[in-house]
Amino acid sequence: MRSSGRVRQVVLGRYSVFGVRCSQNWPLPANTELRTPPVLVPRPGKNCHPPALHAGHRLGLLALSLLFATVAALAQPQAVHQAVRLMGSGFEITAIHEDPALARQAIGAAIDEIRRIERLISSWDENSQTSAVNRNAGVQPVAVDEELFQLIQRSLKVSGITDGAFDISFAAIEKLYLFNGSETTLPPPEEVARSVAKINYRNIILDPKKHTVFLREQGMRIGFGAIGKGYAANRAKAVMQAMGIANGLVNASGDLTCWGKQENGREWGIAIADPDDKMKAIAWLPVGEGAVVTSGDYEKYLMVDGKRYAHIIDPRTGYPTTGIKSVTIVCPDAELADALATSVFVLGKDNGLALINQLKGIECLIITEAGELAGSKNLELQYEKRKE
Ligand code: ADP
Ligand code: MG
Repeated sequence: MRSSGRVRQVVLGRYSVFGVRCSQNWPLPANTELRTPPVLVPRPGKNCHPPALHAGHRLGLLALSLLFATVAALAQPQAVHQAVRLMGSGFEITAIHEDPALARQAIGAAIDEIRRIERLISSWDENSQTSAVNRNAGVQPVAVDEELFQLIQRSLKVSGITDGAFDISFAAIEKLYLFNGSETTLPPPEEVARSVAKINYRNIILDPKKHTVFLREQGMRIGFGAIGKGYAANRAKAVMQAMGIANGLVNASGDLTCWGKQENGREWGIAIADPDDKMKAIAWLPVGEGAVVTSGDYEKYLMVDGKRYAHIIDPRTGYPTTGIKSVTIVCPDAELADALATSVFVLGKDNGLALINQLKGIECLIITEAGELAGSKNLELQYEKRKE
């Protein structure tokens, strides 16, 4: 998994007070301002006035309340953040807890977990099980851990629902592209044709009894660049939750999952970066708990004759996709969101929205090459005016 550090989503401590239903091809309205949130004040109970106390009681009560106030101040939830480079990308992990030592420990455990996953699934690490599967393409099945077996099984399911737009065997063509800004031409058509012939998720053969994976043809290769970070974000969250972190956030370089609330008790609010200026927000999403995953063409891409290609390969043609600048998927699961964001790039705006609109509980925001914002049927956005 190779990619660069990037900013795609910014977690906001503020939360807009208005929500807008977004229909397909919805344009950004003018003069829309982000407002500060309403402050929630607890309602007073029925017995607002305590019965009168005499002096001794009052002093005791005062001491007690001071003690409680001190304990309460100490027990305020605190947010511990850590930025760390993992899977070749910038990750940001936040744990919120009254005990910052526990929060730090949980972040450490999450980092260990992500490193463990990388060792298992990276196709760049010669010692990984994934590399063993790739080396044995067309030769023999390779026994793998249950975890990798299941990740491949889930990847094949996504291939099924996206009609092959998502395909981990895209990796057969990976070496033809660099996507680092240095390329000025597309690879020769004969080479593309030769490699694209090796892409076919139906030729990834899983044997559940022997726990083996077999790539049927020589020259086949699998890679988890479009799903691995989402999976890692899910696992990091699970590890932290198991350690008692009830509120937190993992941002795996644009694959973001959050749970619970912010340390100030507010819901998480996520800003989507403007593809034309990634330090600016183009939209705010009310997330609460769940995953928001953005794939963009503004970090890794190819420019040929003034035409921009994303770093996502259309498995039907072997060429990188065009027409979409960024896709954001909102759903409870970061792994699925990651895989679907990549899929929508390949499917294009209309087919992509048609797919997402069929999936319950999953929403999508597409920014096209022309700068048009297109949202799935039930997408609710909160946003601010685009600044000049
Ligand atoms: P990002 O790298 O920006 O997180 P994605 O999640 O969309 O974005 O993943 C892009 C990566 O997915 C590519 O770098 C490549 O490794 C892999 N990939 C490219 N095309 C496909 C495809 N059609 N199906 C599955 N994986 C793909
Ligand atoms: Mg993806």
